[in-house]
Amino acid sequence: MLHGLRNWMAPQLALDLGTSNTRISLRGEGVVLNEPSVLALQKESRKILGRGAAVGKLARQMVGRAPDSIRTVQPLSRGVITDYELCEAMLRYFFRKVAATGWRSRPRVLIPVTGGITLVERRAVFNSVERAGAGKVFLIGKAKAAAIGAGLPISEPMASMVCDIGGGTTEIGIFSMAETISSQSLRVAGDEFDQAIVDYLRERFALRIGLPTAERLKKEIGAAFPLEQQLSRDVSGLDIVSGVPRKTIVTSEEIREAVRGPINRILNKIKLAMESCPTELVSDLAETGIVLSGGGALLRGIDLQFNEQLGIPIRVAADPLTTMVRGGMICVEHLDQWRDSLDDGYAAA
Ligand code: ADP
Ligand code: MG
Repeated sequence: MLHGLRNWMAPQLALDLGTSNTRISLRGEGVVLNEPSVLALQKESRKILGRGAAVGKLARQMVGRAPDSIRTVQPLSRGVITDYELCEAMLRYFFRKVAATGWRSRPRVLIPVTGGITLVERRAVFNSVERAGAGKVFLIGKAKAAAIGAGLPISEPMASMVCDIGGGTTEIGIFSMAETISSQSLRVAGDEFDQAIVDYLRERFALRIGLPTAERLKKEIGAAFPLEQQLSRDVSGLDIVSGVPRKTIVTSEEIREAVRGPINRILNKIKLAMESCPTELVSDLAETGIVLSGGGALLRGIDLQFNEQLGIPIRVAADPLTTMVRGGMICVEHLDQWRDSLDDGYAAA
């Protein structure tokens, strides 16, 4: 009885603690927060700027533009927490923001985590999130959360496959009867696309650009498959030879060439996941195909490129940026159904 009452009182939320973005979905309210996973600090004191308010969107505006005395920090790198203290501070800020009316008890929080996470890194997630204000923390694999969020019938006896391309990691999973049949996690995703664009412009045009500019090019004209209508943009950077600013025109075809390497590495991991899967399930996949989620799924023509390379149907999830957090919310709402898929910190999953 007491247990039931506590469950009823505790707010429940799904927390997608992404390398690039943090999203929170509240039970009964849907997605209530969607902010970059970034903080801006005074370099010397390590104090958060704006009296602790330079977190998320506000901090993101400073990335790459901040003066020397200011540092912008992402507390996660490639899917895992790299700065515990700042991660905790960021989460405390976000929790406070979504609890505008106040919580009477500490919330139960479900968090999707990368498949490549170690036990120590799992511990760090439990600790940071609990210290930021959570009552009870549950972890689930990112690929499974994404599959559930995309509405895949993963409890059915046929195979479902998802590939979530975030900023820091790509999570690949094949599921059947609610079990993970095969999974792969790789540290190649959106950030690597940006880096590949920086490298390409340096090598091809002797032009140095920053990562934020590369990301903008990727979003505005980037493609993974030849476009019917080529896009192009003026880009300014630093001429490596003369050391002065210079402009050049970059096309979608050039961006496609730039990101080909990381795209192929993702495709190779998808093939690896399929190879270690029972044949019967692989033949299911020829029908059901793969659903793509995460920000990387928004790259133009990525579905066409994957389809050409893999020969199976590829579909981009509806609203791919929130697929993961919505999947987490579904698990929170049906905790009993998904209990076996969750790690509550007592047993190593
Ligand atoms: P994470 O789970 O790591 O927080 P997200 O799923 O939020 O990541 O996706 C962030 C990544 O998606 C970034 O690398 C970002 O540049 C990329 N992204 C966002 N929108 C687009 C777009 N329209 N085209 C290509 N990439 C995009
Ligand atoms: Mg993500």
